Amino acid sequence: MDMLHSPARTRAFASWLLGERGTVASVLRDGSLALVEFDAPAWELPQKARRWPVHWDDLLVYSVEAGPVEHQDGLRVALSGEGREAVQHALQLGSRTGLCGAPVYPLPFCGLSIPFSPSSVRACPTCVRLTATAP
Ligand SMILES: [Zn+2]
Repeated sequence: MDMLHSPARTRAFASWLLGERGTVASVLRDGSLALVEFDAPAWELPQKARRWPVHWDDLLVYSVEAGPVEHQDGLRVALSGEGREAVQHALQLGSRTGLCGAPVYPLPFCGLSIPFSPSSVRACPTCVRLTATAP
């Protein structure tokens, strides 16, 4: 496991950050970076910082188990395809297909719960259009 794509500051502390649980607080750089807020208390984390920018591709190495469902509303990210080719679809809670109807799998990230971001470069165009017109 490594953090090959994240900013140098994040990479420098990758061994501390890998395996930590967190949620994505916001999406940076057109969706290529996620600002992850880790669940651990700040004093347990490097430089006492809870928020770290992590590249989307590096988030995939957090694969362990499906995270707990924390939010009861809103659209989540689900994927079709694999790795760098993965497309981000919008997923309604409890659904097994994206809004566009594509079969998807939920993110396997360790505890991460990621809201769908229409501005992401990897967002499915159909899902983006559907979320834009959704009530
Ligand atoms: Zn889609």
